[in-house]
Amino acid sequence: MGEFCIGIDLGGTFIKVALLDAALTVRARRQVETPAECGAEGVIEAMAGAAEELLHHRAASSGRVLGVGIGSPGPLDLDAGVVIGMPNIPGFQNVPLRDRLAERLSLPAVLENDANAAALGEYRAGSGQGLRHMVLLTLGTGVGSGIVIDGRLVHGAHGMGAEIGHLIVEPGGEPCGCGQRGCLERYASATYLADYARRLIEQEGRPSSLRELLATGGEITSKDVAEARRAGDALAVEVWDRAVYHLAVGCVSICRVLDPEMIVLGGGLAKAGEELLGPLRAHFERLHWKLAEPKTTLALASLGNDAGVIGAGCVAWEHFGRQH
Ligand SMILES: [Zn+2]
Repeated sequence: MGEFCIGIDLGGTFIKVALLDAALTVRARRQVETPAECGAEGVIEAMAGAAEELLHHRAASSGRVLGVGIGSPGPLDLDAGVVIGMPNIPGFQNVPLRDRLAERLSLPAVLENDANAAALGEYRAGSGQGLRHMVLLTLGTGVGSGIVIDGRLVHGAHGMGAEIGHLIVEPGGEPCGCGQRGCLERYASATYLADYARRLIEQEGRPSSLRELLATGGEITSKDVAEARRAGDALAVEVWDRAVYHLAVGCVSICRVLDPEMIVLGGGLAKAGEELLGPLRAHFERLHWKLAEPKTTLALASLGNDAGVIGAGCVAWEHFGRQH
């Protein structure tokens, strides 16, 4: 007889579900495409269907499932368990996702922001295991983030904390969709880094080996910029350094506010590994105050694309596990 929790990660492309035992080991998993064209009802049905398959898994049926953790894009009303809106899935407005799934699965459920869930996943089961304080930055389409302090996710007084992607790292800088200027997200996300390279080539006529990609109708990705940088392309070197510099500004500011043992980097840009970490550490050490040696470790995430679903399961364990 074991006890289990279910994690559900709702993404724009895929719904992932996982059955986690008390040691946070994944005992079973499923992945289905998100039927975004079916609206909220279809998406909820797909989530419930995938979770039900796990409930029928032999591990779950031989034990007891305590509850369900749901990681969802937002904005969310966490206390009410409601999705206020979802840019990628039309019709997902003011949906009581937590209660709908709880009812459908006859299990208690808890709703969490997807980036926060991923942070808890890395903290409990990934690179942050054994630490007290950890920050996760996911460098993808935007910059997602989550903060764990003494084992607890930080939400802030109004549920708007831990949004490090919108930390201002360049006052008066690039306009951000949030209405501020100079947000970290506009410099250090994989999408905006690639977009900056494209703008320099198309609007300023700068020479670069990346120009060929654009000329043939292709898009530049952060991976292309990393490859061009490796080959010594001057524009790619400049674009990469600009992103890494602003990321370092963000990391130093995180240290001054939170002093975490580790800042964990995930998402598409972090796939560059040491090519990201090496220059990042150099900028970080240069910008860091000199009152003491930098003690915060900059490290890569270890759960990859599973951080969200494992983290959602961890959120369920925090809420419904016997230890709490
Ligand atoms: Zn912003």
